[in-house]
Amino acid sequence: MAESEFDRGHIAGGIKHCNGCGVTKPFADFSRDNRHSPELVSGYQARCKACYAAWIKVHRRASPEASRRAARKWTLRNRYGVSVHEYDEMVMAQCGTCAICGEFDSGRDGESKRLAIHHDHETGRVVALLCTSCNWGMGQLGDDPASLRRAAELMEEARAGA
Ligand SMILES: [Zn+2]
Ligand SMILES: [Zn+2]
Repeated sequence: MAESEFDRGHIAGGIKHCNGCGVTKPFADFSRDNRHSPELVSGYQARCKACYAAWIKVHRRASPEASRRAARKWTLRNRYGVSVHEYDEMVMAQCGTCAICGEFDSGRDGESKRLAIHHDHETGRVVALLCTSCNWGMGQLGDDPASLRRAAELMEEARAGA
């Protein structure tokens, strides 16, 4: 949907017209949207938070499975910049196991879990798919290559000396 000059003027003024309720509201009433869609030139969602929440409620009740899938797709895309297909390809490339320990992620209750995407906060790039423990451990060392290397050296030295 092309945006009118009217809408552009409002966006410049920090307010935006909601496609749902039709009310013009301040930006604070809209959620951020990082997708680069022509409909979202403002960087905010087309519908206000209230309309979006109402829509999600109805949608969830109608199809919990579909909405879970949609939420997952959204998280992959917005947090990690990958599609569901790209994620599945990464899992295949790692044979479904953690890139560090080589184990399947059994999760806390022994139920098999999806591998976590470890991403570099500095570059925003995906590093690898890891199990819950390795993902957490690497993060605890600040994703710092020097610290991770030093940790490995200390373990090697300790075992060599034993
Ligand atoms: Zn609205
Ligand atoms: Zn692991």
